[in-house]
Amino acid sequence: MKAVYTAADLENWDEIVADLEQRPILAVIGDPVAHSKSPQMHNPALRAAGIDGGYVRMHLRPEEVSEALPRMAEVGFLGINVTIPHKAAALAAATAVGPLPTMMGAVNTLRFGDGNMEGWNTDGPGFVRAVEESFGAKISDLRVAIIGAGGGAGRGVAVQCAAEKCPRLVLVNRTMSKVEELRAEITTLPEKSDTIELCRWDADSLRHGLSEVDLIVNATSLGMSQDDAEVIPSGLLKAEHLVYDMVYSGGQTRLLADAEAAGAKGADGLPMLLHQGAIAFEHWFGKPAPLEEMRAGLLGA
Ligand code: NAP
Repeated sequence: MKAVYTAADLENWDEIVADLEQRPILAVIGDPVAHSKSPQMHNPALRAAGIDGGYVRMHLRPEEVSEALPRMAEVGFLGINVTIPHKAAALAAATAVGPLPTMMGAVNTLRFGDGNMEGWNTDGPGFVRAVEESFGAKISDLRVAIIGAGGGAGRGVAVQCAAEKCPRLVLVNRTMSKVEELRAEITTLPEKSDTIELCRWDADSLRHGLSEVDLIVNATSLGMSQDDAEVIPSGLLKAEHLVYDMVYSGGQTRLLADAEAAGAKGADGLPMLLHQGAIAFEHWFGKPAPLEEMRAGLLGA
């Protein structure tokens, strides 16, 4: 099996995969995609569930996506996961999709069938399960602040939290226009959080914005490197905060180190990665995912 397949491989797919023990039936598409840990999570899941087929990485450039998706269905893929920068293109390609992924502006899971492409965003629901697993708490009981709510992942989590009716939702972003627009969209949800506030990303605004929240979420891209700027001035973190860092670096991020120093409980992005994958599996196969095999695969990756 190649580490990464390409659109060119789809031209003569049968030949390319002829010698594989498991014919690929699922893939993650992205640009880049070589870093994706999804195969390490989904191949053990397929094996554990006794499903004949493999999961591969497919590198598609933006201009290749619209033609590649129907071609993938044609050559026998059941569905795909979608990573950066193709989540909006996947939303556009989906022939059936619910209102939340539409508001999130992103689809990360597609299931092919009978000329259709059903789409979902499993990042939001995966985040909800990750918070339950990590902190034993339900989003609907937590006042939540999302740092980086204007980014792709932050937007998805913000829409999900609002739809779960978390009592207070604080949207923080470097570029305020993005969260102003997001709040305007979220307020159109029929059922939503009672309070949805905007907060600037500076120490004074955060001191007020974080004073009455239970869960702080980092949805910015800061934290992958130890040299990154701090997400939250450390003096603002309190022992009663729960801190969820969506970044998964394999080590302790600066934010999680600051949370620990403040006596706060913290969790990294691994459970969200796991649960968004498990929910995708449920959509593809209509049955629960073998979660512990998937977790072991991710931890070993
Ligand atoms: P994105 O769309 O590029 O958004 C990045 C966000 O970070 C934006 O809010 C952006 O603010 C902010 N940002 C970037 N650089 C900044 C800086 N130097 N100073 C302040 N703010 C900065 O990225 P994404 O796809 O949402 O991903 C965000 C993070 O979530 C990544 O670390 C990704 O790995 C992680 N993630 C994890 C999971 C999981 O399953 N654990 C799933 C998805 C994403 P502006 O709007 O002002 O530009």
